[in-house]
Amino acid sequence: MSFELSFEFFPPKTQEGTAKLLETRQQLALLHPKFFSVTFGAGGSTRDRTMETVLGIQRDGFEAAPHISGISSTRQDIQDMLQVYQSHGIRRLVVLRGDLPSGEVTASDFAHASDLVAYIRELSGDSFHIEVAAYPETHPEAKSALQDIQHFKQKIDAGANGAITQYFYNADAYFQFVDQCQSMGIHVPIVPGIMPIYNYTQLARFSSVCGAEIPRWLSLRLQDFNEDAASLRALGLEVVTNLCQRLLDGGAPGLHFYTLNQATLISQIIENLDIQ
Ligand code: FAD
Repeated sequence: MSFELSFEFFPPKTQEGTAKLLETRQQLALLHPKFFSVTFGAGGSTRDRTMETVLGIQRDGFEAAPHISGISSTRQDIQDMLQVYQSHGIRRLVVLRGDLPSGEVTASDFAHASDLVAYIRELSGDSFHIEVAAYPETHPEAKSALQDIQHFKQKIDAGANGAITQYFYNADAYFQFVDQCQSMGIHVPIVPGIMPIYNYTQLARFSSVCGAEIPRWLSLRLQDFNEDAASLRALGLEVVTNLCQRLLDGGAPGLHFYTLNQATLISQIIENLDIQ
């Protein structure tokens, strides 16, 4: 079975966080990922730290992909960032509309991610491999599932080379989504985004914001284990390993892990997979 792994980090704020991320990266590097990506904080709040983290990864000899969001960036900001990235040999971007910290709306040169993809192509031709976001369970602001896929297609038509999905725990949602994308003429690789289960409260909070569904049975089981970290971890490990196995068996081209800057659980998931 051949598939690509990638790992997503957030830029650390403190020296301890930076040291911990280095350890995490060293552990995950043993799994030979295709690339490490680094998020762009809501509203551009981490712009400098994202760049610093990305350039550090690249300097150490790994492929690093910065996330770039359009919602709080001007055309000039994008041009400046691309120049730095290009001059340091960065060749892959994850391009997003982004969210603002409080959900407020701001005037932006880029109302939708497709506008930003088009602008990056206009500025830099084919210099970058561009990944965009996709939503097997539909983006929370979308008026319909179909319209959301039409908007996803606009990003591909604007020049994106591939997509990484929002996380989900229902493999059928992914397979259905990929089938529907193909029937609408979208043929780029769509890599499932995988969120390991570290903590129920945190997962429930993320999920309510981003529209990812935690199946009822899983949510209830995880809540039972809220005071029992070892059992929660064991259940999460089993559920996410089974999800990854199903996705790969069904033809997913890779797995992109939302690491939350932690490695151990992910190493265990990959070790448990049957990937002969
Ligand atoms: P878009 O593709 O622009 O879509 C957003 C909404 O607008 C959708 O409902 C879509 O249907 C609709 N839409 C799109 N085009 C049109 C149009 N032409 N007319 C009308 N409606 C339209 N956020 C961050 O802030 N920083 C990050 O680093 C980050 N990394 C992420 C990585 C991945 C893999 C994923 C899946 C998400 C990430 N996000 C990040 C979250 C993302 O920014 C949010 O989900 C955001 O709400 C939408 O971003 P998008 O790029 O999907 O936007």
